[in-house]
Amino acid sequence: MSMIRLTIDGHALDVTAGTTIWAAAQQSGIRIPVLCHDPQLRPVGVCRVCTVEVQGARTLQAACVRPVEDGMVVRTATASVLGARRTLVELLLADHPSPCAREQVGNCALEYLGRDLGIGLPRFAARAWHDHYDTSSPVIAVDHRACILCDRCIRACDEVQSNEVIGRAGKGYDTRIAFDLGQPMGNSTCVSCGECAAACPTGALIDKPLTQPRADSLARGPEHVVDSVCPYCGVGCAIQYHVRNGALVQVSGGADSPVNQGRLCVKGRYGFDYAHHPQRLTVPLIRRGDHYPKGALSPEVRGDERAGRPGGLVNYDDVLPAFRAAKWDEALDLIASRMRAIKNTHGGGALAGFGSAKCSNEDNYIFQKLVRAVFGTNNVDHCTRLCHASSVAALMETIGSGAVSNVFADVALADVVLVIGANATENHPVAATFMKAAAKRGSTLIVIDPRRPPLADHADYYLRFKPGTDVALLNGLMHVVIRDGLINADFVRDRTEGFEALRATVQHYPPDVAARITGVPADIIETVARCYGRARCAMIFWGMGISQHTTGTDNARCLISLALMTGNIGRPGTGLHPLRGQNNVQGASDVGLIPMVFTDYQSVKDPAVRRRFERAWGVALDPNPGLTVVEIMTAAQAGTIRGMLMMGENPFLSDPNTNKVRKALAALDFLAVQDIFLTETAEFADVILPATSFAEKEGTYTNTDRRVQLGRKAIEPPGQARTDWQILCDIATRMGYPMRYQNPEEIFREMASLTPSYAGLSYERLGSIGMLWPCPSPTEPGTAVLFTERFPRGKGKFVPAEFAPAKELPDHQYPYVLNTGRLLEHWHTGTMTRRSKALDALEPEAYAELHPADLRNLGLDEHDLARISSRRGAITIKVRAGERTAPGSVFIPFHFREAAANVLTIDALDPFGKIPEFKFCAVRIERAQ
Ligand code: SF4
Repeated sequence: MSMIRLTIDGHALDVTAGTTIWAAAQQSGIRIPVLCHDPQLRPVGVCRVCTVEVQGARTLQAACVRPVEDGMVVRTATASVLGARRTLVELLLADHPSPCAREQVGNCALEYLGRDLGIGLPRFAARAWHDHYDTSSPVIAVDHRACILCDRCIRACDEVQSNEVIGRAGKGYDTRIAFDLGQPMGNSTCVSCGECAAACPTGALIDKPLTQPRADSLARGPEHVVDSVCPYCGVGCAIQYHVRNGALVQVSGGADSPVNQGRLCVKGRYGFDYAHHPQRLTVPLIRRGDHYPKGALSPEVRGDERAGRPGGLVNYDDVLPAFRAAKWDEALDLIASRMRAIKNTHGGGALAGFGSAKCSNEDNYIFQKLVRAVFGTNNVDHCTRLCHASSVAALMETIGSGAVSNVFADVALADVVLVIGANATENHPVAATFMKAAAKRGSTLIVIDPRRPPLADHADYYLRFKPGTDVALLNGLMHVVIRDGLINADFVRDRTEGFEALRATVQHYPPDVAARITGVPADIIETVARCYGRARCAMIFWGMGISQHTTGTDNARCLISLALMTGNIGRPGTGLHPLRGQNNVQGASDVGLIPMVFTDYQSVKDPAVRRRFERAWGVALDPNPGLTVVEIMTAAQAGTIRGMLMMGENPFLSDPNTNKVRKALAALDFLAVQDIFLTETAEFADVILPATSFAEKEGTYTNTDRRVQLGRKAIEPPGQARTDWQILCDIATRMGYPMRYQNPEEIFREMASLTPSYAGLSYERLGSIGMLWPCPSPTEPGTAVLFTERFPRGKGKFVPAEFAPAKELPDHQYPYVLNTGRLLEHWHTGTMTRRSKALDALEPEAYAELHPADLRNLGLDEHDLARISSRRGAITIKVRAGERTAPGSVFIPFHFREAAANVLTIDALDPFGKIPEFKFCAVRIERAQ
């Protein structure tokens, strides 16, 4: 890279060609003020406060856009520069409210600059404003008077988040920023990511206070900032908690993070106040006895009578009388004695535990150790079973590793990006910003999904296919790739096996056959197949639209085959990336929260592996794989599982066929729940223990990229709440297996010693941005691209799959296909997000989305109440019209207890991954009476 020599304020500097004067000055510690400039954004030079004098130039130059030149002589503080700067700032201050909302927390860049330049009362007349406040958004307050038209919000919205909601409206004096076509912000297509407010240098766009301490702190600003990780989705964005008076007051994005580069979505930025919700559990609770039998208090999951009820959260007034406050010793002793009694009478196999993908690696490592070493069973699982179990089954079988091959940011290097069965803009919003940016830069984006996701608006090709026909569609694509000679023959020869069997299967799926099964026109199948087949670097992302089927493993097998046959794996910008759901579903699986494997996916059936764990833990271990999530519920109903420990999971709402789950939970002899709120599942508990929220503890979390990151404690837990790992250690110790750790770091060291992929990681090495596994030794940096030379199983294996229909097809009685999923504003069973003020305000109620034509046919209008029933139950729910949902289908988010989608879903399982078919069952829709 060529170097340029220039002089700024008499200092000689050498900088790389293409550097701007402003950046060169920054590098050498010379401060040039800016308002419109942000190094994260494209420089535009509209505010001109960074003007400098360049020797030989006719006019003052904007330093943020003017590139350096060899021999350039720059002066940043001459009389003419300061005079121009002063006038500009004075003009901007003329109708700026002082102090503006941002200055009230001490950081309006304009007012700071005014003071710095010694500007007193402005000499210029202020504009006569009207309608300058826009408070329609639940999360951001707009004050147009404070806007300096620097366009930072516009560029943040366009360039960083690719949402393109903000622009300018009006002319001359009447120019102002505008949302969509001038709508109030809250009525626009704004997705409330807050990137605009984070970029705004003044009080024009500012986060509304969400917690009381924030209001208290307005005059003084936040007290301290704690680096942590977002507690919601698997993207694992780095965040900073702003803490004042012991309370969270704001969250900002971790700018140094390679994961999110400072970006956040609405949940990460505004969904933090649940930690201070008055319904937090603060003392242990013990069920009072027979007056309140289990299940009698739980929600009437038909939902009918609750549909109109606001909030829909557990009604504490109804539920709390069933429990009495207890001392920790009494509650822990009761758990230990009841679990021990069940084990002594019925064997360890009568016990089971659900850990949580929301808890840290350390919590989950201790959880599975407790279940295995103390309960004496491998009946330990978590919501990975509801998420990507089938993807992992297929990846383990074909490649030998369930891990993603490439980090999602590699999408920037791909020339073709295929996203299938993943609503990334809503479920992995920050990852989606990278996908949208890739499409803008010229990558070909292919989006495939029966329900049109918003990402399709950015796609070159969107394929809507009939639900449940994934295998036929993917076989059709592979048929064309092979037929047209687009396979990577060298890769197939050198690095794979089983290609001929795959070829034989897909030859039965020519485009016309695939078209007949899937509904996608044959010519589109041809075009998309050729596009993927000809790519230099192609990347595949998938979500639960692929995995949550009884054919989930087959669906994933086909995607893996497509990548293998084209050699699109093992290089940057290629590969397979099943987007992980919860914040730590990857980590919980890595640390052994799976019934068939210990940490690092080491089989419980392997005698050598088992011996290693037996030596480390000092007990004999069960050689048989345990039961999975849905199998445990079935066994509980049958009476073979009698005691359960539940850490942070809420199967009552998250598992399929809620009425069956209800019977299963009620049938347990003993249930202990540790959680931060009294969840629907906790209503069935004999003992409830108050745990700490994400912000109240330290621990590591592993994101969808395999990046292990440190979450740090920011606030104290409420009341007597304790960390999950401490609770588990206390139970184990009381059951006769002493577990004593000083802190999570000590647990991490033990865990890493038994987890080859984590062996080189330590708290010290994780630092502020974390590290990727595999990292087998302390001298290695972590691995971004996997499978560069070989696959863990040796050769990649093609496993052909034949199309098979979903387990329960629509018929006369139940003519619609139900698809369940998540909303942008909510997470999982809503335990946290529905107790977040902003998120609840943005999306307060359950709804069923149908195509407008179906609504008309059913005689329903938007917001009417419909009764939706399946063979397993019925709910009453409001309907909304949405063309994203195909005719004949209905989409229902599963977050809402008052209209619980899983009352309807079927508990049929994929035979390999044991994942339920959340994405397909038959339902009937009629007007609610
Ligand atoms: Fe949190 Fe996921 Fe949003 Fe990032 S994308 S802020 S990890 S919810």
